[in-house]
Amino acid sequence: MRKVINFNAGPAMLPEEVLLKAQAEMLDWNNTGMSIMELGHRGPEFQEMALKSEADLRELMQIPKNYQVFFVAGGATTQFAMVPLNLFGDKMNADYVNTGIWSKKAIDEASRYGTVNVVAHTQQRHHLAYIPEVKDWLLNPDAAYVHYTPNETIDGIEFPWVPDTGDVPLVADMTSSILSKPIDVSQYGIIYAGAQKNIGQAGITIAIVREDLIQDPLPRTPTLYCYKTYAEHHSFYNTPPTYSWYIAALVLEWLKQQGGVEAIYKRNKRKSAKIYEVLDKHKDFYLTRIDPEFRSLMNAMFYLHDEKLTPLFLEQASLAGLENLRGHRVSGGLRASIYNAMPDEGVDRLVEFMLDFVKRHG
Ligand SMILES: *Cc1c(COP(=O)(O)O)cnc(C)c1O
Repeated sequence: MRKVINFNAGPAMLPEEVLLKAQAEMLDWNNTGMSIMELGHRGPEFQEMALKSEADLRELMQIPKNYQVFFVAGGATTQFAMVPLNLFGDKMNADYVNTGIWSKKAIDEASRYGTVNVVAHTQQRHHLAYIPEVKDWLLNPDAAYVHYTPNETIDGIEFPWVPDTGDVPLVADMTSSILSKPIDVSQYGIIYAGAQKNIGQAGITIAIVREDLIQDPLPRTPTLYCYKTYAEHHSFYNTPPTYSWYIAALVLEWLKQQGGVEAIYKRNKRKSAKIYEVLDKHKDFYLTRIDPEFRSLMNAMFYLHDEKLTPLFLEQASLAGLENLRGHRVSGGLRASIYNAMPDEGVDRLVEFMLDFVKRHG
């Protein structure tokens, strides 16, 4: 394992095996004598890699045949626009659930193109945040879709269930939770995720779109923002971010070698439980603001009761080789992002440090 453990929320750490493989293949990929960065995206070698990455993703997530997989440049934020532009149709309105900072950004973007109904938002009980049940949402049967964020990366709040929205398609921003646990893709209309948290490096976003939702977008939608363009050209209308795609392919291959999503889910549960256990055991020192039922598997958010100690915590963590534990500038506090690539030993080192810090400063 590397000396430094990187808890960054995104771009996030990658599996060491993936980095080593990319390094080994840098100057001569697949016996071409060239780096994959230098190869044409329409050449047979690159096309083969692209097809395999899609097949691996389909296998890992058991994506049904009536869903297409698109590889899109521009990040999850691009999808904040693509979803309304492609799905509003004649309805020109959609339901959004606001559970945190990323939901809010999606809402703001969709509001530029039509009407957004915020049907539910995070609530507080006993100073802890929770998400109300779907029966309490103000769902609008005439909405073009319902959008939500299964895991709020900055706030550290995650849905433990999938909302049932009946016939209205469910759209999920899974940027920080895709491939972290098994899901049933058929419950969704669209799933999208930027790569830099659980799939690879920044620059590419995966969109899994049910075929009936690939329809005519709003007038004047740019060609590269139309799902139809990706469907008709198999994500090769223009030059895709080839190196990001390649790294994603390596991560998907790595995930299969780890035993797939079921196996990584077990590891993820074990990893997050270790951190939350420390937080619960030392409640008078560490503070959490999320109802235990809604705690994120990927982003453990916490605070110190004595906030004056936060800079010292970060400084000493860094000396111990534990980097990027500072919470988002908006939320403050501390955050350990423990995506699929984070090994058990990384979490063990953090837990050891947290316990030691209580001993010294509690
Ligand atoms: C990181 C993140 C985004 C933003 O992704 P970009 O690639 O920077 O556009 C959106 N949604 C969620 C849930 C995220 O975690």
